[in-house]
Amino acid sequence: MRKIFGFHGGIHPPENKHQSMAGVIELAGIPAQLTLPLSQHIGAPASVVVAVGERVLKGQLIAQAKGFVSVPLHAPTSGIVSAIEDRLIAHPSGLTAPCIVIDTDGKDEWVEHVGTADFESLEPAELINCIREAGIAGMGGAGFPSAVKLSVKPDTKITTLILNGTECEPYITADDILMRERADQIIRGANILSHILKPDEVLIGVEDNKPEGITALRAAAQGSNIEIVSFPTKYPSGGEKQLIEILTGKQVPSGGLPSDLGIVCQNVGTAVAIANAIDKGEPLISRITTVTGKGVSTPGNFEVLLGTPMSFLLERAAYQSEINNRLIMGGPMMGFTTPDADVPIVKTTNCILAPTEDELPTPPPAQACIRCGLCAEACPATLLPQQLFWFSQGKEFEKLEAHNLFDCIECGACSWVCPSNIPLVQYYRNSKAEIIQTRQENEKSEQSRVRFEAREQRLIKQAAEREEKRAARKKAAEERAKQAASGEGEDPIQAAIERAKAKKAAQENA
Ligand code: SF4
Ligand code: SF4
Repeated sequence: MRKIFGFHGGIHPPENKHQSMAGVIELAGIPAQLTLPLSQHIGAPASVVVAVGERVLKGQLIAQAKGFVSVPLHAPTSGIVSAIEDRLIAHPSGLTAPCIVIDTDGKDEWVEHVGTADFESLEPAELINCIREAGIAGMGGAGFPSAVKLSVKPDTKITTLILNGTECEPYITADDILMRERADQIIRGANILSHILKPDEVLIGVEDNKPEGITALRAAAQGSNIEIVSFPTKYPSGGEKQLIEILTGKQVPSGGLPSDLGIVCQNVGTAVAIANAIDKGEPLISRITTVTGKGVSTPGNFEVLLGTPMSFLLERAAYQSEINNRLIMGGPMMGFTTPDADVPIVKTTNCILAPTEDELPTPPPAQACIRCGLCAEACPATLLPQQLFWFSQGKEFEKLEAHNLFDCIECGACSWVCPSNIPLVQYYRNSKAEIIQTRQENEKSEQSRVRFEAREQRLIKQAAEREEKRAARKKAAEERAKQAASGEGEDPIQAAIERAKAKKAAQENA
């Protein structure tokens, strides 16, 4: 039996997962309109390749990746592109962003596509390219382009491939139902990933509160070298660094990557998307999303087309707006309240939570920090959350970075234990956004400075060259004048007259 390790901190919030696990995965259906943000992943937004008024088919490329850390976007069903414009997206501050809007035609007509019967006949680079072109980004919530994660440096030996089936956040059951119903596809995805990375071992990590999922995976993995590892439930075991520590005892250093330790981690949902892309040639156009909370009468898990309005999905779960206090995209720990029910489902939307006031009360006003230290005890990243809170309030960005703010996985464990109800994670999110913005602005002004200095240098060089030529011409003229005056050499004016005369005579003869 494999040895299981622990990680620092963590909490045990009420799980509330049973509500959405009564049924099977249901198809959400095709809404009248889909809104597809060009940025549904970490990295550069995709760039549009269709025009307004164009008919598109299901699976057709509608926006291509722009750069290495970017993923393309495909039409989730057939229809007409009715707009390419800024629309409200899923963001806590009600941001708008560029989107492609498709008026669906209900025909669900596929573009021509073909898979690969024998993935083992393909080179790893070809498989990674298929994954890139299928628009696959991490479906566990982070949305990092999968092809980038798989493109490890040539001299890096990957010893351990981990599939993350932990799904530690309360309420969310999208991965659990996937493991129960589509374990074969998860194992297929694991085999493809294994063929790409050639690891020594393949592990699928699942918390022990998902016994059916574990049984289904073990049955599907029989006869393979894939090991299903179950471990005690604790939030946030599903954080990539925490799961790696649980399964291997190794800690990813601050600012480091799992691949530095010879480890690659992918979500189980991503593994299914990879299996579909390779076996069937299907791009990522739908995902499993949990719709739950007492604000819906029939909570469950839905296979939903990307771009589907949240309101459409809520109706499928018999939404009761009169008893719902707020709408959360994601879970209660890491999710955020959306200001509008029409924002679209994207590649990273694992849950829509519609709680009642009893169920998830509106947080009371924050009190002053009493320096109890509970937040530091709970932090799985071994940070000092109260210190980070002080620095965030004072906008002391250098100190925040020195205290490893960017190691914060925004799990919310510190806020959950805080007796003063301080929304700590919100401070960290805002500070991270401000630091990133400042970095980008500094980068831009540095680029402008470099361009300005290069232009100045160019102008000085051009002026010097002009002056040099002018001086050379002057010197040559002076030389000629000197020679003419001394009778040496030919008189330039007389020579020109002679040449003109000779030319005229030649023309007359002709
Ligand atoms: S848990 Fe809250 S009150 Fe206690 S030290 Fe941390 S921030 Fe302060
Ligand atoms: S949100 Fe960040 S600081 Fe708070 S417990 Fe999680 S990792 Fe630690």
